Amino acid sequence: MDTMDTDFFVAWLEEAARLVHRDRDRLTELDAAIGDADHGTNLDRGFAEVTKALAEWPPASPVQVLTSAGATLIRRVGGASGPLYGSVFRQMAKTLRAPVTLAGFTAAFEEGVVAVERLGKAALGDKTMVDALAPAARALALAVRDGVGVREAFAQAARAAEEGAKATIPMQARKGRASYLGERSIGHEDPGAASSALLMAALATAAT
Ligand code: ADP
Ligand code: MG
Repeated sequence: MDTMDTDFFVAWLEEAARLVHRDRDRLTELDAAIGDADHGTNLDRGFAEVTKALAEWPPASPVQVLTSAGATLIRRVGGASGPLYGSVFRQMAKTLRAPVTLAGFTAAFEEGVVAVERLGKAALGDKTMVDALAPAARALALAVRDGVGVREAFAQAARAAEEGAKATIPMQARKGRASYLGERSIGHEDPGAASSALLMAALATAAT
């Protein structure tokens, strides 16, 4: 697989929806510890709508998949994470050019992560989804530089996101609801970082 077509992007989001649904309770429990216990239900509802919309209005291009997903997430996921995830996909849609190569995907994904950082005013180490998304973007950029194939690149990005999510456990939250807890936010994995790791795991699966 050298380029990614519309079906690939649909498969990515369908797998993301499946993983978010499977892990809904875990994500909500993580949010119960340092937030308001709605992250799993929010995202599950949002991604179920994403797959429904993609089935009802079949997209004709990767850009249409991402535009549809971004709009649905912004509309249907409440809280902080809806607009943030929505902006990842919408910014990717703005940046992406056909045919989608690994380099093109990576450039768009990097722009998507920058959009989250800008909207959330969050940086690496603030204990947010950025702590999973930014390492994934970096892993992709290194894979492009080293000429790694698509499958291996996405597998590396998924591992980087998972490690990034686990690395939020000892952090003190500086953004979002969890920051209100101050030092009491230490010792818990950030729910948004955990769900971002699922998005990247879905990407790796879609490429296999
Ligand atoms: P809410 O906090 O409004 O209930 P969710 O529970 O759906 O929204 O999502 C919480 C997650 O959103 C956090 O775990 C964190 O990863 C992410 N988040 C919250 N605020 C920010 C921010 N300012 N920048 C980046 N990510 C954020
Ligand atoms: Mg919440």
